[in-house]
Amino acid sequence: MPCRFFLCLKERKMAKVQSVRGTYDLYGTAKRKAKKVVKIASETVEKYGFEEIETPIFEFTEVFARNLGDTSDIVTKEMYTFQDRGGESLTLRPEGTAGVVRSFVSEGMQQNLPVKFYYTGPMFRYERPQKGRQRQFTQFGVEMLGVETPQADIEIIAMAYSFLKNLGLDQSIIVEINSLGDQESRDAYRSKLVAYLKEHFNELSSESKERLEKNPLRVLDSKEECDKAVVANAPLYSDSLNETSKKFFDDVLKGLDLLEIPYRVNNRLVRGLDYYSHTVFELITDKLGAQGTVLAGGRYDGLVAEMGGGDVPGIGWACGVERLSMLLDEDVELPRPVAVIEVGEDVHDEALKLAYDLRNTGYRVEHSYSGNLKKRMMKANKANAYAALILGSDELSKGNVTFKNLDTGEQKEISLKNVQKELK
Ligand code: ATP
Ligand code: MG
Repeated sequence: MPCRFFLCLKERKMAKVQSVRGTYDLYGTAKRKAKKVVKIASETVEKYGFEEIETPIFEFTEVFARNLGDTSDIVTKEMYTFQDRGGESLTLRPEGTAGVVRSFVSEGMQQNLPVKFYYTGPMFRYERPQKGRQRQFTQFGVEMLGVETPQADIEIIAMAYSFLKNLGLDQSIIVEINSLGDQESRDAYRSKLVAYLKEHFNELSSESKERLEKNPLRVLDSKEECDKAVVANAPLYSDSLNETSKKFFDDVLKGLDLLEIPYRVNNRLVRGLDYYSHTVFELITDKLGAQGTVLAGGRYDGLVAEMGGGDVPGIGWACGVERLSMLLDEDVELPRPVAVIEVGEDVHDEALKLAYDLRNTGYRVEHSYSGNLKKRMMKANKANAYAALILGSDELSKGNVTFKNLDTGEQKEISLKNVQKELK
């Protein structure tokens, strides 16, 4: 039966045999690097007692867009929202925290605090695609729920830093950190900021004029040049922190000093989402131009309550796997295989069996599919094999194969029984 997909494409003159704007196929070097990023991230955070969670790729829209006052870019203009056949409004997840917290609440995990999860997977945002900015991208993230002391903040930042260090990126990375304080401090800062921004109303971008009403803190985060100029002289957050918030932030910084984690306090740092409090931080590199933030996070003490899960504090971070992959200079080396090379058709069955047995005992085996000896040897070298096992009918009749060390070129006839000993 002809494939419906292709029939349909034929009718539309093959216009759509391409990926959607802002999405990419990940394979070869890029996929190997992305896999390495996730592997090192998982290994690092597992040492801190984090366990993996997998939440659905789509959720009810309200999981992400919880209140009408939400002014984050993600919620106001980047979500992929659709109605399913049952009439429910669903959204492809644009970030991981909301889904993890939804799961924490709906699965009733409040009994066993703290809860420490990590996740990885695709996120979807309708953004303008450019280098390091995609419409489908992969995040790796962590969430710690139930710890209100600065120890959580210190640990979570230390974990992010160790992860990038384990990836070999610590030389080009700096931690930027700020405190948004508790609710009282936020309110105090907010009024000061609004008063200041109103004085400069005419200099602001139209978007910031709008934000001034709904969430003035976001103006600090604006990427528009005219806003940046105004923001440069805005009141400093640190002047509005109350004693509790100041002490909290000091304790976090002391912890980072103790662990010798390099950081820079950035008084202008706020985060894109509305639910942060106290510590916010970003790990930034100077190697990716405008898309220099590779990892970002903060404390979100009000979020669980907002989702109906009670007064449980939270803190976490997420990193862009593709952005981090782009920073890895070298290709990721795969373990070198052994090549099984058959000479003549009558040894095919023996070759199949040998390759199967070796693979079952843990070897990576390249068993070429066609060609004469020369072609097959070329393929073995291309696959970066370290040894070749050459099967010819003469040797096989004696129970032997030719073992060739592909690095030195040395070769000798050995007994089939000794193949594994020789490979070691
Ligand atoms: P930005 O300011 O770059 O838009 P953001 O504040 O929207 O970042 P977060 O929501 O904090 O980003 O996501 C955490 C990380 O995920 C980012 O630091 C980045 O590495 C990665 N990331 C975010 N959006 C994208 C995207 N569209 N494409 C690729 N990676 C992304
Ligand atoms: Mg963004």
